[in-house]
Amino acid sequence: MKFLYSDTQDYVDPNYDFINDRSSPKRERYWDDVYAHELMRTPPYDGLLVAMSAVRKADGVASSKVRYSTAEEQRLLRVGARKFLRFDGKNCKDLMLMGDCGAFAYADQKEPAYTPEEVVQFYLDAEFTHGVSPDHIIFECDLENPPAAQMTEAARRSEITLENARKFIKLVRKEGDFFEPMGAVQGWSPKSMAKAAKDLVRMGYQYLAVGGLVPLKVDAIKVVLEAIRREIGPEPKLHLLGFAKADHIDQFASYGITSFDSTSPLIRAFKDEKANYYIENSSGGLDYYTAIRIPQALENSRLMQGIKRGLFDAEDLLKREQKALKALRDFDRNKGKVSGTLDAVMDYHQFLVLGEGEDEKTQLNALAKTRSRVERTLEDRPWKRCQCDVCQSVGVEVIIFRSSNRNKRRGFHNLGVYHQHVQNTLGKIS
Ligand SMILES: [Zn+2]
Repeated sequence: MKFLYSDTQDYVDPNYDFINDRSSPKRERYWDDVYAHELMRTPPYDGLLVAMSAVRKADGVASSKVRYSTAEEQRLLRVGARKFLRFDGKNCKDLMLMGDCGAFAYADQKEPAYTPEEVVQFYLDAEFTHGVSPDHIIFECDLENPPAAQMTEAARRSEITLENARKFIKLVRKEGDFFEPMGAVQGWSPKSMAKAAKDLVRMGYQYLAVGGLVPLKVDAIKVVLEAIRREIGPEPKLHLLGFAKADHIDQFASYGITSFDSTSPLIRAFKDEKANYYIENSSGGLDYYTAIRIPQALENSRLMQGIKRGLFDAEDLLKREQKALKALRDFDRNKGKVSGTLDAVMDYHQFLVLGEGEDEKTQLNALAKTRSRVERTLEDRPWKRCQCDVCQSVGVEVIIFRSSNRNKRRGFHNLGVYHQHVQNTLGKIS
């Protein structure tokens, strides 16, 4: 089973100065920065997925989803996505490079943002190895299998997706089959998704991409996959689009999944409240750790507001911030105990919680919870055990929740651990 990472233009500055928290003034973003597959000797995924809506602004595409400037879009189409993403090194050049429309970005529109003609041209210019037919997302999935007549809007979207797929595969063949076409499956129930899958196989698709799974629970996804497999048999390959239940992937081995894409290992590094860093344990599961928040006092919006309104003293905060950093770095060098380090970290952290907002009891409660999570991180020192290129090169910085150069590196570490975990788990099952 291949794990693909959905590209969101995530790179870090390889020469970032962690002590002074700055990049070299000569650094040029993108050109000097490195992607995860450049920073790590073994790429932390089996391929990349690029969403057209992340690259090209179109009517109805949410601007927050567009990650490329016009110049970057033009360059990607001129040199191809592999070269643009520098995914052409000897470890990467043969890995899957898949395109899709990124239907989330235009989900609230009546029609998809791109026509099949436009999509095929985009995939050809980007030189993808695989491309998904243009789909229109359906959010609801009713396990009771209501008929199409009761689900007018969902049925309309399912019809658009199938009609697009019919046009798309013809165009791909006419152009000379330069990439493998993948048929997008959208439906409002297990039964309607299974029927759509069968229609796609009849059109000639041998690789299907199942969409609309993001909001579904693990058990509901299983019901959908069972229905699809019953209808199409074991042969056609399946890809799971935007698979958010990445941590449960071992439960899906029996459905014959060829590939899936997810951003969750990276995102959790800076979006999850408590599980920001994980590492595989001796029994093959993942142990989750909380990263240690020491934000830059003068860049953190809560702290800055407090300073502006006279609640906090800037100089005092900066002192505590430096004390927390020093304590943690000393601890990493075995010069200090868990208790003292924890005190220094929490002495600064309290300003992120106490003060205005919720009532005092809730705040004290939150603070106590964080304290025990941070204590566990310090006790276990997971960054010391990890053999990945990130942890080996930056050490304790990886566990500090502070500025994108640390947070993204932690995300890259998670991708590598997750990739290895998928291989280990599925290796054991097979
Ligand atoms: Zn690591």
